[in-house]
Amino acid sequence: MRPFNYEAPTDLATAVARASVSANAHVNSPIQYKGGGTTLIDLMKLDVMRPEVLVDITGLRDEAMHRIDHSAGELRIGSLVSMAALHEDESTVRDYPLLTESLWQGASQQLRNMARLGGNVLQRTRCSYFRDPSFEQCNKRVPGSGCAALDGANRGHAILGTSEHCIALYAGDWAPALIALDARVEVLGRSGLRTLEFKDLHRLPGTTPHIETNLVPGELITAIIVPGGPKRRSLYRKIRDRQSYQFANASAAVALELDGDVVRDVRIGLGGVATIPWRAHKAEQALRSQRLDEASATAAADAEFMDATTRKGNLYKVSLGKATLVRSLLEAKAMEVA
Ligand code: SF4
Repeated sequence: MRPFNYEAPTDLATAVARASVSANAHVNSPIQYKGGGTTLIDLMKLDVMRPEVLVDITGLRDEAMHRIDHSAGELRIGSLVSMAALHEDESTVRDYPLLTESLWQGASQQLRNMARLGGNVLQRTRCSYFRDPSFEQCNKRVPGSGCAALDGANRGHAILGTSEHCIALYAGDWAPALIALDARVEVLGRSGLRTLEFKDLHRLPGTTPHIETNLVPGELITAIIVPGGPKRRSLYRKIRDRQSYQFANASAAVALELDGDVVRDVRIGLGGVATIPWRAHKAEQALRSQRLDEASATAAADAEFMDATTRKGNLYKVSLGKATLVRSLLEAKAMEVA
């Protein structure tokens, strides 16, 4: 690991001002925030990320960033809350089971204890070419260098939202649940506080896969807000190579409202198949006002994956992604509403 300066401000404004000085949106921005560090420190050890300054934000004395708040008819999660703390929060388990279920399936207990939720949504891809600097071709790590995964080992790569410049998978489990629940993100930067829809946080790779989010350089996520709403049937289903801690080959987060057998509303987030947390708008559109059964669920899955772009190793994700979605929808339908 390369030498770096370590700073641990206790004041939020000071931290943001410090990180805004020369930060940029590239993976190797010279100033990086450090929360739990579960992604960042790994990538520093691998020499993929080479920050000159780490701004440790875990000791910030901003109480709201450490708190889970259910008081305003919605759920406000401070970005420094750990995965474990939210997973064990009884009110969240009762009212937002999709969130806690996806957290449970998203990491080992040790990681849940360390990782903070603001960092969780910004976790980096597991693409092996990105994580190994001995490979010269990686547009995400070295812009303009090419993409070794296009014709390389791409079994774990994305089939939705890809470009000719990058097919790296967004590997997280919690973000598909957030996107299905219409979450928002509160961020603080040099220009002050702003809120953006969670669906607008991540950027498709396009021609600039090294710029992964719509955050302005130096902006810090301070909270994630999940609207309240009607009781829904909801679940998170994750298919992976082994049942213990492993990234998804395909996953689906479903929040469903029914009138009898007919879909009044449905929100679907997909994981394991796309370059960003994926809102399945086409499937949702196909299902609204339809009777939910195997045929309509299959038609919705077909619509969502119609534009999938596959490579030699990840062709299987089309059928797996569809099957995961169909099964999740039918299982959600069969649930009792609490
Ligand atoms: Fe790099 Fe993206 Fe290609 Fe992986 S898929 S090698 S992250 S450019």
